[in-house]
Amino acid sequence: MSSLAGCRKAEPAHAETPHAEPSRTEFLLGTVCSVTLYDQAEDSIYRDIFSRIDEIENRMSINISGTDVDRINAAAGVSAVQVHDEVFAVVERALHYAEISGGAFDPTVGPLVALWDIAGENPRVPSHEEIDAVLPLISWRDVELDRDNRSVFLKRPGMRLDLGAIAKGYAADEAVEIIGNAGLRQAIVDLGGNVLTYGVKKDLSPWRIGLQNPGDGRGSYVGVVHGAAMTVVTSGDYERFFEEDGIRYHHIFSPFDGYPARSSLSAVTIITASSMDADALSTAVFVLGYEAGRALVESLDGVEAVFIFNDKSIRKTAGANFILSDEDFVLVGD
Ligand code: AMP
Ligand code: MG
Repeated sequence: MSSLAGCRKAEPAHAETPHAEPSRTEFLLGTVCSVTLYDQAEDSIYRDIFSRIDEIENRMSINISGTDVDRINAAAGVSAVQVHDEVFAVVERALHYAEISGGAFDPTVGPLVALWDIAGENPRVPSHEEIDAVLPLISWRDVELDRDNRSVFLKRPGMRLDLGAIAKGYAADEAVEIIGNAGLRQAIVDLGGNVLTYGVKKDLSPWRIGLQNPGDGRGSYVGVVHGAAMTVVTSGDYERFFEEDGIRYHHIFSPFDGYPARSSLSAVTIITASSMDADALSTAVFVLGYEAGRALVESLDGVEAVFIFNDKSIRKTAGANFILSDEDFVLVGD
C-alpha cells in the first residue's frame, strides 16, 4: 500500500501526552491519524473530523478506485477530468511546489511509486531499464490545469498523479478548520507524523512536538520543537522502506534519476503555519538535499526547518525553536 501515506507510526509523533487527554485514533490516508481535543468536546466533533479526512481520502487516494485522482490517472493521455474544487486546489499547490523546487517535488512520481512498490506487497529494486522507461512519465510540466472547467489532464499515457506527499498536510489543515469552527480552544492533529497544533494551551506553556530519531524504532525523540500554534512536518528515509543487501530503499524518490533520494540527510522537519505547505516542503527539501533545500526554506517567509543528517549531526534555521535531548546527536551551529 502506498497511497497517500508518507509514513505509518505506531505512536503519535507528538511529545505532548495525548493519552492523558481525550484522544481518538483511526487508520486513514494509509496512516495512523490521531486527534486530541483538550476542551470538553462532543463525540460528534471527532466524528466530523474523521469523516472529513475520510472524504479527502476518497477524493485524493490512488489506492481507491473512482477517486478524482484515480480518474485523472485512468484518463492519462486521453482526456481532461473534471474534479472537486479541493482536489484542483491541492494539485495546483503541488505544481507550485514542483516549480519552486525545480522539480524535486513532483506529484507525477506515481509510476515510480508503482514500480518500486516500497510500501506495498512486492517491494523490489527495479532494473535500470525499467527505471529509464518510466522516467519520461515523471513530468509535472505535463499536467495541464483548466481553471474554468476545474479539470486536470495528464498529457502522456502512463502518467500517474500521486498526492501522497501533500494530501496529509491538506487534511490536517482541514481538520483544524473544523476544530476552529466548533469554537474549541486547543487541539493537536497528528496525521502520521504530520502534526498541527491549534490554539493556546490551558497553562499557556508552549506546544512541544518531538522529532523522531531516524535511526531508532518508533517513539524515541532526538529533541523537541516548541512554540505557539504551528505545524511540524517531517520527511525521512526511515518512514517507509525496505532493505536489500544492506541498502535502505525508501519512499521518497528523486524525480531526476528514479531512485530513492540520496544525500547526507536522514530527515527534514518543516515548521510553519500551513500543514499542506509544510508537507510539500519537507518532501521537496529532502529530495533537494541540505544546501539547496535550506536555500529554498530561507527564501520563504515564516518557514523554519530542522535537518537531521546521517552522521547524527543536526542543523536548524535561525528561527526554529528546537531543543536537542538525545546526546548521541550534535546540534551544529552555523
Ligand atoms: P512525504 O512522506 O510527505 O515526504 O511523502 C512521501 C510520499 O510522496 C511517497 O510515499 C510518494 O507517494 C510521494 N513521493 C515520493 N517522492 C516524491 C517526490 N519527489 N515528489 C512528490 N511526491 C513524492
Ligand atoms: Mg510531504
